Amino acid sequence: MAIKTQRANRNNAPIPSGTERVKVLLTHAKIQKRIREMAKLIRKDFPNEPLLLVGVLKGAVLFLADLARQITGEVTFDFIAVSSYGKDSRSSGQVKLNKDLDSSIEGKTVIVVEDILDTGLTLRYLLRILQQRKPKNLRVAVLLDKVERRLTDVTADYVGFAIPNEFVVGYGLDYAERYRNLPDVRILSLPGGNH
Ligand code: 5GP
Repeated sequence: MAIKTQRANRNNAPIPSGTERVKVLLTHAKIQKRIREMAKLIRKDFPNEPLLLVGVLKGAVLFLADLARQITGEVTFDFIAVSSYGKDSRSSGQVKLNKDLDSSIEGKTVIVVEDILDTGLTLRYLLRILQQRKPKNLRVAVLLDKVERRLTDVTADYVGFAIPNEFVVGYGLDYAERYRNLPDVRILSLPGGNH
């Protein structure tokens, strides 16, 4: 698929008009099959517990919606939003809380649901603040894991797919807020080769 564009990039800097190209990496069917497996694994680990899924906005929304529907038993959800800041936001490790959870997680079994684990800095920050709130259990489910990009020692307990070091969009993941609605995960290439 090729889309003509004259939009902004992830940092809102204008990019020249050109053609963005997207190539399917993971089909919708493959994603759904893996999510069913992940849901079973999660329920097997906590057979009798009510589970609180904490979705990280906005990228994890589609993943959480599908995962929640595949987990049997009692499931509730809440959302949190964070953003990176600092001179080099991708590697500075400075993360800001933009929206907190609506309710307390104390004593609850919490599964953080994240779209993609890249450097791991966002997740490290989230786990630190959530752990302070004394959940009974705290686990992490990520759909995608770019293992070779990791700058911290955080790991996810449930991983959908390990993927190569490519910029991906779709199934909740954006490029300048676009592409989130694609049903599959695709690799995005820009005319200039950068994001
Ligand atoms: P980390 O803190 O692990 O470096 O970054 C996690 C966040 O960076 C993700 O939640 C996501 O918002 C963004 N991110 C990292 N890699 C990609 C990618 O390939 N595509 C998109 N759309 N976002 C990404």
